[in-house]
Amino acid sequence: MTYTNKLPEAGTTIFTVMSKMAQDFGAVNLSQGYPDFDGPRELHDAVARHLGQGHNQYAPLAGVPELKEQIAAKVGALYGCMVDSERQVVVTPGATEAIYCALTAIIHLGDEVIVFDPAYDTYEPGIRLNGGVARRIPLQSPHFRIDWQRVRDTITDRTRMIMLNSPHNPTGAVLAPEDIEALREVIDRHDILLLSDEVYEHLVFDGREHLSLLRYPDLAQRSFCIFSFGKTYHVTGWRIGYCVAPAELTDAFLNIHQFINFSTTTPLQYALADYLRDHPRHHLDLAAFYQRKRDLFRDLLKPSPFHLLPSRGTFFQLADYSRVNDAPDREFAAWLTQEHGVAAIPISVFYENAPDQRVIRFCFAKKDTTLRQAAERLAVIASL
Ligand code: GLN
Repeated sequence: MTYTNKLPEAGTTIFTVMSKMAQDFGAVNLSQGYPDFDGPRELHDAVARHLGQGHNQYAPLAGVPELKEQIAAKVGALYGCMVDSERQVVVTPGATEAIYCALTAIIHLGDEVIVFDPAYDTYEPGIRLNGGVARRIPLQSPHFRIDWQRVRDTITDRTRMIMLNSPHNPTGAVLAPEDIEALREVIDRHDILLLSDEVYEHLVFDGREHLSLLRYPDLAQRSFCIFSFGKTYHVTGWRIGYCVAPAELTDAFLNIHQFINFSTTTPLQYALADYLRDHPRHHLDLAAFYQRKRDLFRDLLKPSPFHLLPSRGTFFQLADYSRVNDAPDREFAAWLTQEHGVAAIPISVFYENAPDQRVIRFCFAKKDTTLRQAAERLAVIASL
């Protein structure tokens, strides 16, 4: 049999590799980004209730109406964006599926998509599998701001889309008002769509606001904005998110979604609809909740040889380990997991051309006891 693997060099995603290594070596797992605590009891109970009430068959293609209405109400209240829940919202099995559907709906052979490095690892495969070409623009450490002049210089008549991600995984950078202005100016008079990965929308720290593209009608009218319930309710394993887009883009999105997953797990959707209805303010406490964890983790690492970069959002903390040794980051992450019992993510995997830097990513979405245990192990590592 002969066949050609479409992503031969993809291997296994770093999240799976590092979580497995953490498990194999009994390490504290600060690699793959997920909480080691549960979400609200009431939400879990609501799932059980809906399972018991016979909500166990296919949901409608775009999601159950009750949940789509709650989503429309939420983006209206949070971002002042009035959406038609019937035409502009799709509930998806995770944000990853949503990103893939949006790309597949739009990208044709030879289309170019601008992506910022480091970029989350699903972006480029999603572009390439659709015949597109990722044009990757590096973000500069330590603030990882977008160089808009480079964006301007990278746009060609084949540029179909720009992918944005704020709060940004893995760096924790967030878009500022100047970025929104620059984005507007750069795409003005170009036929360019936006894909905005906003799965960490509620995890923005130090009093800043999340600048969802849904806040800006001129940008929202050309955007797929993608969100995650997994991050908001500490249930990443439920695989449930959603996409908000103009009606025409939503139609194109649904054309793809119907053939990939058709629809999303029914009882979860009913449970989330109930929870959003009964606790419409739950997500407002998340920033403070995670900011405290970020600050605790940063404090705990003070005695360690790691130099911590700024983390303005997400539940990730980048750490420079050049005071420990000079190893490439994949090697360092394996060593840290195996020899010191703490797993982290090497960030070079998120680049087309990784710069010469010694940086790994820790996830601080963990119980305080977990963070303390990790910090104790990291504090004893010797400096050069
Ligand atoms: N988003 C998670 C992270 O960045 C990983 C999700 C996954 O493993 N697919 O760590």
